[in-house]
Amino acid sequence: MNILLLGSGGREHALAWKLAQSPLCGTLYAAPGNPGIGEHATCVALDATDHAAVIAFCEAQAIGLVVIGPEAPLVDGLADSLRGAGVSVFGPSRGAARLEGSKGFTKDLCERAGIPTAAYVRVCNEADGLSALEGFGAPVVIKADGLAAGKGVTVAMSMAEAQEAVREIFSGRFGEAGAEAVIEEFLTGEEASFFALTDGSTIVPFGSAQDHKRVGEGDTGPNTGGMGAYSPAPVLTAALEGEAMARILTPTVRAMANEGSSYSGVLYAGLMLTREGPKLIEYNCRFGDPECQVLMMRLESDLVELLVACAQNRLGSIQPPRFSPEVALTVVMAANGYPGTPEKGGRIDGIPAAQADGAKVFHAGTALGIDGVLTATGGRVLNVTATGASVGEAQAKAYAAVDAIAFLTGFCRRDIGWREVAREQA
Ligand code: ATP
Repeated sequence: MNILLLGSGGREHALAWKLAQSPLCGTLYAAPGNPGIGEHATCVALDATDHAAVIAFCEAQAIGLVVIGPEAPLVDGLADSLRGAGVSVFGPSRGAARLEGSKGFTKDLCERAGIPTAAYVRVCNEADGLSALEGFGAPVVIKADGLAAGKGVTVAMSMAEAQEAVREIFSGRFGEAGAEAVIEEFLTGEEASFFALTDGSTIVPFGSAQDHKRVGEGDTGPNTGGMGAYSPAPVLTAALEGEAMARILTPTVRAMANEGSSYSGVLYAGLMLTREGPKLIEYNCRFGDPECQVLMMRLESDLVELLVACAQNRLGSIQPPRFSPEVALTVVMAANGYPGTPEKGGRIDGIPAAQADGAKVFHAGTALGIDGVLTATGGRVLNVTATGASVGEAQAKAYAAVDAIAFLTGFCRRDIGWREVAREQA
């Protein structure tokens, strides 16, 4: 089967690497891809916002499955356009992708379906927002309703900060994404990411992970897309996973189906493990980046078989996903300046040496010159990923691989997995 993968980050490199291992995979195309993806796929220049062009490509290349990596094309309805043209696709419809695209939609769904989440109020203007804050007090969380590249959420520790966040959302800074806001109760606990695959009726767990969002060691400094991750998340025990499936993810998929927006694809739940049990913080309608990289390192099942089964509504007729019990850990190497303005063009050497002992280097923002020199083109550049019997062992292997890479205009955090390593040593 010929497959088209859309996207160009480390997440998509990990997916391409795994898809290409399947005996079911014919020619793998990626659009736009990157030099790492290019080792497993034919990279093509296709604009995911041009639905007609994507459909025409699928028809011309006899594509049997389209895998959509990032959220923007999903929220934009690319999966609907492809399905309308008879093309099989892994990823939710526009209506189902509202679980990520509108925080207010998700909160209302949780309320209707009795899904544990923070208490909340939806507001449409500054005055209502400011008065809603009074009902919560500080700390409180303020969120722009729509996609805001991770910048639309403020965890406010004081009322002054909360009021400022409300004013900022309704100043128009986030455009359409800030036409509405959600104000919600501050939850305490440890966060974990939990994934499930679903075809709209069957839902199966697809592993857990924890990531490090802050740019600085000790989880300090500004937020980023993610500086590293590991899987599984030991804090999400089998019992807590079972509870999350039974009380959060399964009721969500059922409610979406009952309400006419059947969800198929990967459902990524950001959970807060509170004293009262897991509560939903947010949904994403695609794999996490860099969480996907650590999941793919551990996945033993055939990824093509799983994704096709989701796309063709027959997930219940195949074996559930199997993962290695090993830990996988990934370290993000970013260009200096990230998450502000990253320095572009820095030379990268040493990837073959980094991979010599079983580590895998996934590319995110890289370019390959005609002289064969690899350079940095984006904020997050490489995801250096390794496995081990413990988080500590995977961490040591990942940093040994990092140290084999010469990327003078880049940096990484040296403490990915620190919380778990400390628990292992306790
Ligand atoms: P992401 O970049 O993770 O997709 P997002 O913009 O979709 O983020 P959320 O995941 O909803 O936003 O929130 C971002 C972060 O804010 C969470 O990872 C969590 O640390 C914190 N947060 C969100 N809601 C709450 C809450 N109710 N209580 C405490 N912390 C929260």
